[in-house]
Amino acid sequence: MWETVRRRIQDFFGAPFQVVLVVSFSLVAATTILVGAGVTSRVIRNYLAEASTERVNRDMQLAEALYNIRLQEIASAAHRLALDPLVLSGLAELTSDRSHALAVIDKQIANKVAVQALVGNHLIAVLNPDGKLLAGRLISATGEQSMLDGLGDKVNWTNLPIVQAALRQRALVAATEVLPTDLLAGVGLAEQAYIPVLDTPHASKTLFDPREGRAGLTLMSVAPALQADGRLAGIVIAFHLFNNDFTLVDRIRDVAGIDTVTIFFGDLRISTNVRALDGQRAIGTRISEEVSQTVLGRQESYVGTAFVVSENYITRYDPLRNHADEVVGSLYVGTRQASFSRLVNTFNEQIALVTLSTILATFLLAILVSRVVTRPLKELRELAEANRRVGRGDMAVRVAVRAGGDVGEVASSFNTMLDQLQATQDQLVHSEKLASLGQLAAGVAHELNNPLATVLLYSDIMLSECGPDDPRRTDLEMIAKETRRCKGIVAALLDFARQNQVLAQPTDLNAVIRQVLQVAQKQLGDIPVSIVADLSPQLPEIEADPSQMQEVIANLVSNAIEAMPAGGKLFVRTAPGPNGMITLEVTDTGIGISVEDQAKLFVPFFTTKPVGKGTGLGLAIVYGIVKMHRGQINVQSQVGKGTTFTVLLPIRLSPIITKQG
Ligand code: ADP
Ligand code: MG
Repeated sequence: MWETVRRRIQDFFGAPFQVVLVVSFSLVAATTILVGAGVTSRVIRNYLAEASTERVNRDMQLAEALYNIRLQEIASAAHRLALDPLVLSGLAELTSDRSHALAVIDKQIANKVAVQALVGNHLIAVLNPDGKLLAGRLISATGEQSMLDGLGDKVNWTNLPIVQAALRQRALVAATEVLPTDLLAGVGLAEQAYIPVLDTPHASKTLFDPREGRAGLTLMSVAPALQADGRLAGIVIAFHLFNNDFTLVDRIRDVAGIDTVTIFFGDLRISTNVRALDGQRAIGTRISEEVSQTVLGRQESYVGTAFVVSENYITRYDPLRNHADEVVGSLYVGTRQASFSRLVNTFNEQIALVTLSTILATFLLAILVSRVVTRPLKELRELAEANRRVGRGDMAVRVAVRAGGDVGEVASSFNTMLDQLQATQDQLVHSEKLASLGQLAAGVAHELNNPLATVLLYSDIMLSECGPDDPRRTDLEMIAKETRRCKGIVAALLDFARQNQVLAQPTDLNAVIRQVLQVAQKQLGDIPVSIVADLSPQLPEIEADPSQMQEVIANLVSNAIEAMPAGGKLFVRTAPGPNGMITLEVTDTGIGISVEDQAKLFVPFFTTKPVGKGTGLGLAIVYGIVKMHRGQINVQSQVGKGTTFTVLLPIRLSPIITKQG
């Protein structure tokens, strides 16, 4: 297992360098970016989750504030009535003038209702000290009022714990209270309170309060009406019934900007703006068992996401307590999770987009960078390949110099080295050829020289023995002439062979030139060639073999003259320099040399002249002599215009080269 992983990694690093570079670069970048994106996404998620929890807590605070305001309205309604002098006097008057007294009390109740502008199902009533109803008014959710007379004796409110508490404390008590069905029925509110309990998935098996569905949940206040002497004159009760009344939940929703608000009696939804799937308010459904256990059982707040009807909400449930601090129901606020999730999704989408494009950009960058980085390597590979080819003998190979810097320098010096190598090799080959040719030529020349001398001797003798009219005379003359020509060729061959020895001595090159030109002038005959010698007086004496120098100049001059059969100008020029050398130039205005022929000039036996005229050895000899003197010879020529031979010779030749051929 570990072994295969190791091998995989090795294989990978064996891939082309550029690929390795791009992949590793991209991998590192992608990892960094992905980790960054993951962390960012998490942080944002957590932040938003926290924000949404905070939001639901704030919503609950607002909802509870509005809830308590409603409770205080009811409390103050009861309280004021209990303190109202007219109500108190009415209560005192009951025994004397009951109907007047009741009218006064009812009027004050009506006044309070008008002043308080109570919204929703309310009941405000004044009871006698025994808990029997004297006068009261019902306010419907639509704001209609109705009198409660004639119901008086049906129920006794003193059985209600909150009423008992108020009487015990002789003070106002206000709280969220459960009103049993018989009391509600006594004031005609049983029907209003009735909510059929619906089967709800996830709800607990038993109702939290067996009275759910029939009893009512109210905001209730009870205020004892005390006479000046402290005697209990009556009891004022006021309550707002939540069952089937949506004024408070809708108000909280609208004022606080909360998505959904619900009031539970026990675990039963009795007032809500959560809509069921059919669009109706989802009353009659019940709280889930989990929430019920927390809020109603352990009496704690519940915060969490909950599936309400058809979508997820971030919710909070707070217990509602009665005057005795017992939990009787709960208040719920919920914010749709969708808006929160949408935010998270938008964030995640954006992060994903940024991540992907960054990775892509990194990848492209990696390719670009790796190209730049690996280009010199590619050139080095080319260089190595070129080197191999040179090793196989291919001197023509050159590398392209593209990269700057060190690699570029290596490439260009490699090329320069090859140029020099090639030139040196060419020279070497040439010199070798000349040397072996010289040996051969010397041998042949020596062998031919004696027989030729004999032939010439005898033909001359025979010629002198012939009379002027002897018919054999012309033949003999021909033999003598051709034999002399042969001797000339043999002599040239011997010269060519001799060039391998340099007998150097201080030589005045200008003097040698003058000598040669004198002879040449005589040889010109009637060819109209003007000879111009431009010989530098500053020319130093050079270390050279004077007879070989003479040979060089004589050959160049005779070639120049032969290139101008119709006449022209011959310039011979000398000058000191460059660097420790002197320059000799022989220029003619003759026929010129084609570029093709320029390459072959110095090859022995290359001649363009007719048989009997040229031997093709002149320039080969010149080349050999110049090289033996460690000099250089170049030619510049244009066909039809003329030719210049330039010879560079060193002033000092030490150590003297005397190479035996
Ligand atoms: P040769 O003179 O016997 O032909 P060389 O070696 O002296 O042999 O010259 C070789 C050839 O070079 C000549 O045949 C000629 O074609 C050419 N050549 C040499 N010098 C000149 C020149 N100055 N102008 C034109 N061609 C020349
Ligand atoms: Mg010649």
